Amino acid sequence: MLGDGTLLVYCSANQALRCAPIAERPGAGLVISPYQRDEAGLLATAAYLLRQRRFEAPLLLDAARYAGRARLPASAPFNPRWLRRQRELGVPVLTDSGYVDSGDEPGLAGILHRAAVLPDTIAVLPLHPIWLQDRLHRTVLTGHIRAAGAPVALVLEANRDPFALPGVVEGLLAVLDCGVPTLLLRCDVSALGALCHGARAAAVGTVAALRHLTPRPPPAAGPAAGQPHGFRPAAPSAVFRPTLSYRRIGAIARAHRRHPDPDLFGCACTVCDGRDVDWMTALSDRDREVPAFEHSIRVLQDLRDELLGTGDWKQSWTARCTDAVYRSRELGWDPAPMLRHWQRQLEVQRQPGMQRQPGMQGRTGPAVARLTA
Ligand SMILES: [Zn+2]
Repeated sequence: MLGDGTLLVYCSANQALRCAPIAERPGAGLVISPYQRDEAGLLATAAYLLRQRRFEAPLLLDAARYAGRARLPASAPFNPRWLRRQRELGVPVLTDSGYVDSGDEPGLAGILHRAAVLPDTIAVLPLHPIWLQDRLHRTVLTGHIRAAGAPVALVLEANRDPFALPGVVEGLLAVLDCGVPTLLLRCDVSALGALCHGARAAAVGTVAALRHLTPRPPPAAGPAAGQPHGFRPAAPSAVFRPTLSYRRIGAIARAHRRHPDPDLFGCACTVCDGRDVDWMTALSDRDREVPAFEHSIRVLQDLRDELLGTGDWKQSWTARCTDAVYRSRELGWDPAPMLRHWQRQLEVQRQPGMQRQPGMQGRTGPAVARLTA
C-alpha cells in the first residue's frame, strides 16, 4: 500500500474531500486527523472516501490524541475500538498514542512494545524533540525502536519547523538506520529530505498548525488558547520552490518586486498554471488558503519525483539544499535553517571514519510486507 518514498498529504477531516484529488496520484496518499477532536466524524469521512468516493491512494488515520491542551500522555492505553475500526476500513493501522515527553522513557517503551505485539500495527511516536536532538536520548530511542521492531510514525514537537532545531536531522537519520519502516507525520519541506534518506513515507501538512506538533500552551494563556474557536491561524504560506521553504505570499510578492526574474517566480503547477506564484496576493487570506496548500503540495510532489528519479537521492537532496541556500541569499532572505542541517549530513558521512553503519532500509520483514502489500 505504501511504497518507498510516498509523499502524503496531512489534513484535518474538514479538508479531506478537498485534499483527496490532490493525494490521488502515483506515490501520493492522504493522512487525516480529527477536526476539533471528533474521531467519529473522522471515521465517517474515511468510510465515505473509501466506500462511496472509491479513493484508491494510501489512506491513514491519525487520532492525534497527543495534540492539544487535553493531550494524553504516552502511558495512556490504546483504544481497542480505534484500532479495530481502522482494520475494518482496511487502512494501515496507526496507534492512538499519547505524547512522549522529554523524560518519559517508560512511556516511549510502552508505546513501542504494546504496538509490537499487535498485528500489522504502526507505532505513532509523538516526540519531544530532545529525543532526536540529544545523543543520550537518541541512543535510548533507537534502542527501544530496534528492540520492539514495529514500524514507527514520528510526530515531532516544535514551535515551528522541528528540523530547524540542531540535532533533529541527525536524530531522524539514526531512527532511519534502525531497520524498521519509518513514516514521518506532520512535516514540511524536510519530508523530501526524509524520503531521500530512506523514510517509507512522509506527510506534509496543509496548514502551518499541521506541519509540526505545537507545544501545549501554558495554562496562563487563557481558557481559549489552543482551542479552535480561540485560535487565530497564521496567514497562509506557500512553498517557494527555489528556496525550498514555506514563505508568506506577501513576502514572495515583495521579493518579486525587487527581483523581477521570470525563471524564479513562474510556477508550472496545476494551480498556478504558468502564472507567477504571487498571483495569490490578489486573494484574501481566507481565499488564499486552499490554492496555497494545493500549490505547495503539487510543487513538493514534483520535487519528490525529480529527486527520487535520480541515481543518488541523498546527493541530489543535498545539491538542492545548497542551491536553495544560494537562492535565499540572492533574494535577501535568511535561508531556512533546516537546509544547513541537511547539507551538513553528507559532509559528515564523507569524513573518514564517520560513515554511518550501512542502513537496513529495504530489508523487508513479514510485517512490512503486509503493510506494503
Ligand atoms: Zn504553483
